[in-house]
Amino acid sequence: MATGTGSLAVSEWLSSLHLEQYADTFQAQGRALLSQCRDLTAWDLEQLGVGPPGHQRRILASLQRAFSEGSGDDAPEVRPVPRPRSKQRRPAGHSEVGGASQDRPPPPIPPRVTLNRPPVRFPPMPMFALLHVYRLESFNQSVYLPVSSLPPNAPSVDPSLPPSPVIKMGWLDKNPPQGSMIYQRRWVKLDADYLRYFDNEKEVYSKRIISTSSIASVSNIGEQKFEVVTHSRTFVFRAESDLERNGWVSVLQDAVGDPRCRRESKGSLLSLSATNHEMQGYLELRGLRSKLYVVLCNDKVFLYKNQEDYKLGIGITFIDMNVGNVKDTDRRSFDLTTPYRIFSFMAETDQLKEQWVEAMRESIAEALSNYEVATKIWSEESNGFCADCGATKPEWAAINLCVVFCKRCAGQHRGLGPSISKVRSLKMDKKVWTEELIQLFMLLGNARANLFWAANVPPSEALLPSSCTEDRRRFITAKYREGKYRRYHQLFGNQQELDNALCINVQSNDVLETLSLVFCGADVNCYTGNPEYPTPIALAQSFNQKLQVEFLSQNRNTGECVRRFVVPYISSCKFLHYMAPPSITHNGFLFKTASVGRPITERKAKEEFSRRWCTLNDGHFNYYESDKNSTPNGVLKMKEIVCLAVNPPEKHGYNHTFEIYSDSERLYLFGADNLETVKEWVKSITKSFIPASAEDLLNRDFERIGKLRYKDGLNLQSPKLGWFALVGSTLHACFEDSEGEEAIHLRKLQELSIQQENEVLVLVERGRTLYIEGERKLDFLSWSAAIQQAAGSSGDTLSQQQLTEADIPVIVDRCIHYITQCGLTSEGIYRKSGVNSKIAALLEMFRRDARSVRLKEGEHQVDDVSNVLKRFFRDVEGGIFTSQASQQWLSTAAVTDESAKIAQYQFLLGSLPRVNKATLQALVNHLYCVQRFADHNQMNLHNLAIVFGPSLFQTDGKDYNAGRVVEELIEHYVAIFNVNEQQLQKQLDEITALGSGDFICTVYLEEKKQSAEQSVKIPATMTAAELTFEILDRRKISLREKDYWCCFEVNEKEETERPLHYQEKVLPVLQSLGTDSYLVVKKHFSMEAMLVYLASKVDVSKHGMMKFREERSLLGLGISGFHDRYFILTSTSLRLYKEVRVRFWELGPKTNRPEKEWPVKCLKVYQGVKKKLRPPTCWGLTVVYESERQEKPEKQQWYLCCDTQTEMREWFATFMSIQVRGHAWGGRARGRPCSICGYLFPHWTNMYVN
Ligand SMILES: [Zn+2]
Repeated sequence: MATGTGSLAVSEWLSSLHLEQYADTFQAQGRALLSQCRDLTAWDLEQLGVGPPGHQRRILASLQRAFSEGSGDDAPEVRPVPRPRSKQRRPAGHSEVGGASQDRPPPPIPPRVTLNRPPVRFPPMPMFALLHVYRLESFNQSVYLPVSSLPPNAPSVDPSLPPSPVIKMGWLDKNPPQGSMIYQRRWVKLDADYLRYFDNEKEVYSKRIISTSSIASVSNIGEQKFEVVTHSRTFVFRAESDLERNGWVSVLQDAVGDPRCRRESKGSLLSLSATNHEMQGYLELRGLRSKLYVVLCNDKVFLYKNQEDYKLGIGITFIDMNVGNVKDTDRRSFDLTTPYRIFSFMAETDQLKEQWVEAMRESIAEALSNYEVATKIWSEESNGFCADCGATKPEWAAINLCVVFCKRCAGQHRGLGPSISKVRSLKMDKKVWTEELIQLFMLLGNARANLFWAANVPPSEALLPSSCTEDRRRFITAKYREGKYRRYHQLFGNQQELDNALCINVQSNDVLETLSLVFCGADVNCYTGNPEYPTPIALAQSFNQKLQVEFLSQNRNTGECVRRFVVPYISSCKFLHYMAPPSITHNGFLFKTASVGRPITERKAKEEFSRRWCTLNDGHFNYYESDKNSTPNGVLKMKEIVCLAVNPPEKHGYNHTFEIYSDSERLYLFGADNLETVKEWVKSITKSFIPASAEDLLNRDFERIGKLRYKDGLNLQSPKLGWFALVGSTLHACFEDSEGEEAIHLRKLQELSIQQENEVLVLVERGRTLYIEGERKLDFLSWSAAIQQAAGSSGDTLSQQQLTEADIPVIVDRCIHYITQCGLTSEGIYRKSGVNSKIAALLEMFRRDARSVRLKEGEHQVDDVSNVLKRFFRDVEGGIFTSQASQQWLSTAAVTDESAKIAQYQFLLGSLPRVNKATLQALVNHLYCVQRFADHNQMNLHNLAIVFGPSLFQTDGKDYNAGRVVEELIEHYVAIFNVNEQQLQKQLDEITALGSGDFICTVYLEEKKQSAEQSVKIPATMTAAELTFEILDRRKISLREKDYWCCFEVNEKEETERPLHYQEKVLPVLQSLGTDSYLVVKKHFSMEAMLVYLASKVDVSKHGMMKFREERSLLGLGISGFHDRYFILTSTSLRLYKEVRVRFWELGPKTNRPEKEWPVKCLKVYQGVKKKLRPPTCWGLTVVYESERQEKPEKQQWYLCCDTQTEMREWFATFMSIQVRGHAWGGRARGRPCSICGYLFPHWTNMYVN
């Protein structure tokens, strides 16, 4: 037939489509005959100037009909052919968007006005529609369609085509309209797009249609009732039972709900912004006194009471045009006939009627062609139901997986990505539906494809048309991405055999076997061993197996991906041995309190519990009034449980209790007198909600178990799901991506805090920071409290304290560190008593949360801290030597033979528990260092022993035996603890050199980013030059002449930076750094200019104008904004003058009082001024003044702006040179090569060395 029609002239053909206006363009492009148009695509048409999608569709559909293979019929099918459309039909300014024709525009969804939802663009109303503004008398009164009979000559269209898969339907009572008391019984249907209600279940046209996207919320309101709230109206429905009501609420909430899904689906299925209204306006419907607002959109006609309702998304009904027929009846009237009803419309004018008729005919033509593929594919019976959830008339398919599914499942298939599921529409993606592909789908069908894909679906995991989005996601991911339910091929796991089998099988017509082979790992692109037909596709072609070729081609690029998902599972054995969890059944009596929406902190007396018969079955936990009742008082689905916590005994009236947290933020408390009963229940319940991948957690004696979202080092973008169990002070975790479980020792955390307004729990371990997110409030609160408690000290023994990585109690570590820093030279350290109240307070702080205690010089006195340490050891349960062994330690002191004594001490040391041993070593090491400074602190071996003996042995001190042990431990420290003497010497050297300890600090190279981080130990003596040198040395950066590498102090908040002078000590700078500041080593680009300037200067001082601004004080005093001031900087002070005109420098400062004056040595000058202050130029300086007076420390900050960069550099250089002069200016760092080597401020050294 192709030859017959192919020779048709393009002008004739286009004219038959009523698109003759394009004939010239087609011919100009060399397409004079229909045969020359065969390969046209939508894109080509776009290029040819055929813009309107309706025109493109008409042309493409005609081409497809004309050239479709296998159609033995010569004559093209007779279809309603629309007449040319007139131009004014489209609203002005409404332009066609290229490519929009690829996707069917969604049904007309009005703009959303509800908060928290993305607004939808609302196209401007066409002019003609604006001319007809009608208002109905009563706004709240419903408009119903007039009663009508069946049309006399119903068109022969399959009437069984429903619009969209129904999620749920049933009888409900609808609240009466205003003024009436009687509920109206309505048949209610919910699909993905609409909630509709009807007079009865046979009715095709609804009384009311509410777009799900216009529903703001759905909620229970008691007495079996629920309300559906839209922006403008609230609909109340009543179900026959609470159970039925809950069912409606949950499916509605899901269909409406999940804003996340909305976002995901945007631009794919529910591309809301692409609305394409073909025609809209008021029409009169015969039998109804009022006019209706009619909207024609694609293959549907929607009826609204008025335009307002249209905007609100609340309509009366819609008419599917695939069953419609349009007939001209009168001057201004026309009939839209369907098998169920005749709609007789009347337009305002003749012309408008013409336009409506034409538009509707076009819509019918389109609707019919839309159903072409779907009708064929549905002719295989099982394709009439979604392969995943069973919804009717599914309109989507995965062309590589060979399954047909509904719109809601299609959303999840899309989520898998095209490498797993190639999703296409049966109605819109007409081009992909080749005859072979359609045949393939008819041959396999959902039933046969599911023999493979769904061979092992546990009933508890199966989907229903009403399943929620989350369940769909889980199921579809498991089914197609993980292949969890598939029927394993017997060759599974044996690649060679699978490939062989594939090559043999593609020669036959058994496509199902091919599908099974491919999705069990056979390689679609494997080598067949036959050079003539090297691939399975070529082989299938040579055997003329068209459907095999089709299937293989669709999976040419997906095969690899599917295998990628298969392989790791095989290797981990998780997959091979995976079995669906047996449906756990358990029942018995438990005592239950009413569920609550907040943590239970108070004790619940026995009277507050009620006895309930509880059953756990098939993923549902039901509780009943008694074991005689058949209707449960309540039900908890296992998949809704997010956490289970076992309370400590006797927390409540019943000795043993446990709590269950649901994802809807409810907390259920259950109890029993008998521990065994509770254990049994906990075991059964946890087994039913913990996934197989986290099953290991169940073997632990947990206090709390559940799921939480987390982020960690490699994954800070999107949170992942982890399963956690808390056991004592250890948090066991099964992370999403890693095999097996990991343990986090909470008492050893470096930091534990709650951030972002209590929504994130931050756990800092060495080498990892874990962020646990508060996805839900209730269980997160309880997890946070439990983790914080577990991370604190749990008792009075050493090992129950918060510990460092080295297993030393944090309190001991902090005190030792502090004394080493600040107290080694303090006279009588550890002998002097501190202030009792301060010691008690500090000890209490350490007991509460040692990790959070920061000891600071000036704030804490060394004698208080030293006494905290002593008191801690005196009080610690069992003592450091343990109560069992302390007598042996004491008796060792009496051993006379020295080597025997040391051996005995070593033996006892080896027998100590890990934490005690580590702590003892740290303490003795510390005391060893203390007595080495006896010259300063007067605490020699003996004095220390007298002090520490009774504390460590917890004795009264009358007997010196305890002291002797301590004395000997210190004296023989090296021998007993097997200490490396070289290291000990190094430690002593460091302490000696530092005088006050050291800091570890993060310094960046060139810029603040993780890859540029360096951790540097900062001894007290280290200068900026040494630090710079160290960083450059580590990074192997060679120094070049005129590279002025320098260490900067950067304050991010103030947007300022200050190059440290090369002789400046780093430690004090570090200690004063706020959290907004950091150190960075980088090149100082203006250094050379500054040096040149300084070299040219005769006088040390500088004066001139600058713009000045004060930091406004809390009282709001002081001047705001920048103002001109005159400044004089001398070797001692910086003065500010208000009067500029007086040439005061000639008169001398005495005659002219400055407005302000500051000593230079108290100033710190930073480059930059924060932008928030709107500096008038970008050459600003921020000056910080800190008074030296201890009793009344004072800090001020103000800002200076210069007119040019040069000026700013000069001021800065002058400040620096003056400040440097005031300090000891020796030029060389101790133990370092001469600093003239060029790595820092090379010339300065020369200039200022006196
Ligand atoms: Zn489905």
